[in-house]
Order: sequence, then C-alpha cells, then structure tokens
Amino acid sequence: MEAQHLSAEDQKILSDLLETIKTQTDLFLGYPVAKDFNYQDLIDFLKYPMNNLGDPFVNSTYGVGSRELEKEVVQFFASLFRAPEDNWWGYVTNGGSEGNLYGLYLARELHPKGMVYYSEATHYSVQKNLHLLNMSNIVIRTQQNGEIDYDDLEHTIMMNRHMPVIIMANIGTTMTEARDDVAKIKAILKKLAIQHYYIHADAALSGTYSALIEPRPAFDFEDGADSIAISGHKFFGSPMPCGVVVAKKSNRDRIARSVAYIGSIDTTITGSRNGHSPLFLWHTIKRLGITGLKKRAMHSLETAAYAEQRLKALGIAAWRNTNAITVNFPAPPKVLCQKWQLAAEQGNSHLICMPNVTKAHIDLFITDLTAEMVMEG
Ligand SMILES: *Cc1c(COP(=O)(O)O)cnc(C)c1O
Repeated sequence: MEAQHLSAEDQKILSDLLETIKTQTDLFLGYPVAKDFNYQDLIDFLKYPMNNLGDPFVNSTYGVGSRELEKEVVQFFASLFRAPEDNWWGYVTNGGSEGNLYGLYLARELHPKGMVYYSEATHYSVQKNLHLLNMSNIVIRTQQNGEIDYDDLEHTIMMNRHMPVIIMANIGTTMTEARDDVAKIKAILKKLAIQHYYIHADAALSGTYSALIEPRPAFDFEDGADSIAISGHKFFGSPMPCGVVVAKKSNRDRIARSVAYIGSIDTTITGSRNGHSPLFLWHTIKRLGITGLKKRAMHSLETAAYAEQRLKALGIAAWRNTNAITVNFPAPPKVLCQKWQLAAEQGNSHLICMPNVTKAHIDLFITDLTAEMVMEG
C-alpha cells in the first residue's frame, strides 16, 4: 500500500493544536480533571481496533478487546464500594454521565412508575437523561453548602408516597463538592415506610477517594446505594473521558438481552464500547494500589486546605465542605477565571485541587489574585 502522509500544512495544524493543549493544560485549576498521568506503556495498543462491545462478563465473538482487564477494573470498584459479595456487576463507561444514565435506566426498568428525586445542585446532564428516559422527577432544595435538604426531601416524598422512590444522590456536587448522605436518605425512606425504592449515587467527582477517607462518607452499597457511577478521567486521570458504573447483578439481569450478532449480551448503553479506556484505569489501579490512591487523596486534601487558608489570609470568604478538595470562594475577576479556567456560577467560583495540583500552583494563583486586587484597589 502506498504510504500516505499529511501535507506540511496539515501537520502544522496538528502541531499548533498540540502547543495550545500543552499551554492550556498548565494553567488549569477549575475543572476536576487530573493531568499527572503517563500511559506510555500503553501506546502500542493504539495500533489496534479495540472494542469491548456487549457485556464485559460475557465473551463476544469480537475478540480484539480488553474484557479481562475491564472485569478487574469493575471488581476493584465493586470491592471499594462494598458491593454485595455475590451480587455485583458493572462496566467501563464513557464517563460519569453514562453511568448515571445507566443507574436511572435500571431504576426505571425496576420501577416504571417511580418518581425521581434529585437536588438543585445535581449535574446538568441528569436532567437531560431524565428527559431521554421520560421519567417523572422533582427537584429538591439544597442547603447552603450544596447538600440536599433532607427536610424538603422528606416532605416531598411524603406528598407522593404512593409512588416508588428513585433517588439520584450526589457524592460530590459539581460546584461545591457537597455529599448527600445516603444513610440519612435511607432513614427517611424507612420513616415513611416506602417499600419500593432505588438509590443511585452520582459519585463522578469524589466517589473514588470518598471510599479512602476517614470518617468514610455514607454513599456506597453498604450504606444503601443500588448503583454507583464514577468518572475515570477525574481523580484517576485518563487521556480520554471514561468512567465506571457498578450495579447489583440481580438488577442488571432484569434487562439483559442476548444478541446473536455480537455473541454477547446487550446490557450496556452503547453498542461499540471503548476497549482502550479500561487499560488506563487498570494501569492506575495496578500502579498505585489502594495505598497509592489513598496518598493521592491525602495530597489533594492537603493542597485544598492550603488553598483555603491562603485565600482566607487575603480576606476572601473561602470555604470547603468536609473532606472536599474543592475550595469555594466568590468569583474572581473575569481575566483570572479565563486564565485559570475557573467555572463561575451565580457569582461563585472554585478551585479544584486535583492530585496534580501542588502548593506551587496555588501560590501562582494567589500571586495573580493579589495583583488583581491591588489593581482594583
Ligand atoms: C463530572 C460529573 C458528572 C459527569 O461526568 P462525566 O464523566 O463528565 O460524564 C456528573 N456528576 C458530577 C457530580 C460530576 O462532577
């Protein structure tokens, strides 16, 4: 076959893009994406059309994939999230949003007439997914810190107590990293004698390290969750978006459908599934282990405490939720939001101290902020 190369012009487009991405990656404190990864070991896998289509636990006739590693990744998270020993299942998704969609899908199949409850601080993708699934839903108020208002939840469920309850709990909200307490939610369901319910935990942002800190927040299977979704490109870090969803196997069995064409079972959302992303997650799990991941979490918490303290020293009203790596404060001038890629919502902003963020980054940001404050007088 004739060797085909890009023209010099097209090559320049690529190298320019690469430069831009490098620069944009350096100054990046506002979104929860770790960038301290090195997956050089995996580079040769880019030569192959890897596809894990179908159910990871059921072999497919399509053999170019990473199913065995994907299963290990799911098993790791099932055990981290204390899933019932003989009743767990899951797969590597394209991100937290797909995992949340999956949790809602399972909930709907189990409780077609259920009502979904979720707080105001819930990720924007959830509403779209509820729309896609055509599920009835009610938004619950949040407390000041972004956590669900349990009184409003209780009251609202009471008014609809004839309907099965489906809860989308936030384990680290997008703006303030507030965690809804799954044990408290379960207590409300018990108090109201709700018999049919399903709890999905959106742990996209902080699920992985929530399992590694003391006191352990109430969010996992033992605390009452029926399914949990995380993002793989956030705390772990990955060159492409990915995630993991873990659910109870008995619930997944209710929706399984055998498909002759792929020789597997169609239990997941998409048809073709990324066969590369499980490699990145597996690589991180093997490289760091629980001890390394815990260290990673402690580093982030320490950096966040440092950032909070430095901001406060400037007289800025900074605050954090308990054991959160997100530091909240009134939105700084626009130039700074742009330079450091800080999200701002209703006058509030945040720094997210992902594992790659160091005190040196915080110092640079504080220097910029101080300069702006002086200019504004
Ligand atoms: C990031 C995030 C999501 C979406 O996850 P993706 O991996 O971006 O699809 C959902 N919920 C919360 C709380 C998040 O932080």
